[in-house]
Amino acid sequence: MTRSARVAVIGGGIGGLAAAAALHRTGRAVTVLERAPSLAPVGAAISLAPNALRALDVLGIGDEIRDLAAWQGDGGLRTPGGRWLSRSSAAAAADRFGGPLVLLPRATLVDRLAALLPPGAVRTAAPAALADPGDRTRPARVRVGDEELEADLVVGADGVNSRVRKALFPAHPGPVYAGFTTWRLLVPAPGAEFASHETWGRGRLWGTHPLKDGRVYAYAAATAPQGDHAPDDERAELLRRFGGWHDPIPAVLAAARPEDVLRHDVHHIARPLPAHHRGRTVLLGDAAHAMPPTLGQGGNQAIEDAVVLAHHAADPAAYSAERLPRTTAIARRAVRAGRLGMTGSRTAVAVRNSLIAALSTAGPGLFLRGFDGIADWRPPYASGRQHAGQR
Ligand SMILES: Cc1cc2nc3c(=O)[nH]c(=O)nc-3n(C[C@H](O)[C@H](O)[C@H](O)COP(=O)(O)OP(=O)(O)OC[C@H]3O[C@@H](n4cnc5c(N)ncnc54)[C@H](O)[C@@H]3O)c2cc1C
Repeated sequence: MTRSARVAVIGGGIGGLAAAAALHRTGRAVTVLERAPSLAPVGAAISLAPNALRALDVLGIGDEIRDLAAWQGDGGLRTPGGRWLSRSSAAAAADRFGGPLVLLPRATLVDRLAALLPPGAVRTAAPAALADPGDRTRPARVRVGDEELEADLVVGADGVNSRVRKALFPAHPGPVYAGFTTWRLLVPAPGAEFASHETWGRGRLWGTHPLKDGRVYAYAAATAPQGDHAPDDERAELLRRFGGWHDPIPAVLAAARPEDVLRHDVHHIARPLPAHHRGRTVLLGDAAHAMPPTLGQGGNQAIEDAVVLAHHAADPAAYSAERLPRTTAIARRAVRAGRLGMTGSRTAVAVRNSLIAALSTAGPGLFLRGFDGIADWRPPYASGRQHAGQR
């Protein structure tokens, strides 16, 4: 069966749903094809910076998301023994970037994005493949089981191992292992008060941040061979690696059950693609520019992609030209930040920590400078409203 599908989005993650919502707002008929049986997101919580929140303003849900999220930034960087290397401030972040950095459960963001779509727009249990990227003279085609959809625009939002990307750029080497693995968990808040922190050790780090709903989001990363897994369970692995670190880390681990702990190796696209489109097909989110999570920008960039794509929906080359340089530069910064945070050499760690401690005496600007040129982004075509923001 062939029917005119207008826009087909392959992948119902944060990027695919944001793109679908943005394109739907421009009056296009959108079908999201998600291979999983439901939209339940992988991952625990997500941090959104003012850049992505302003993109969500364009979609009409920026304020709702700000309301549901906890402000991030009051806390700082520590050593495993608990010494503060630098302090950061949520208010300073909001002042610098015209709005807060926030943290919320991934499921909440996915729910709100999906709610922007008309009934029937999302098809789950629908693994899709690009049959033809299309060009000026013919529509693109997508295969879903026995069915074939024709589309004026196809959005490949199928994640880091994107098959759409492979179909468009078969000579590209694809993602590479970043050299470290990650763990994520959501647990009830431990009894004692604690300050939000990220803690850097040798070749490993841990972060603990409160959510607005009373739970705590914790993540950890460590250099490890690709594909490695705990011999018993991942909570036990975290206890071995981080159980002796400062409070509240032992309390967070005590509150976790083995099944609460997600573990994922990090892969990223080290060599940028030649373009984010071919013909009538574009790549978006991790499919286009998977980056290490060290700046917390992978999902943020996917949301930026979505609103820029909606603006250029009739001109995929213009979308590519606008997004490729920015996402390439941010992905490179994320790789550099990873090297700094994950370094394993005792000497390099000592030098790094002394430098951070020395620089941070000038105030919370050190942490914030890492987001200059990223968090201050504004959607070029939106009303440009600003959230200087009070909590
Ligand atoms: C530990 C960790 C922490 C992170 N923290 C943050 C953070 O705080 N902030 C942030 O902005 N980013 C963060 N990221 C990055 C963020 O998770 C990703 O950049 C983001 O989820 C990418 O979204 P996406 O929609 O492009 O891809 P995905 O979330 O991977 O979604 C792709 C979707 O496509 C579907 N799919 C795949 N193939 C097909 C097919 N053939 N047919 C149909 N569907 C298909 C998949 O099932 C999936 O649902 C983090 C990443 C990690 C690993």
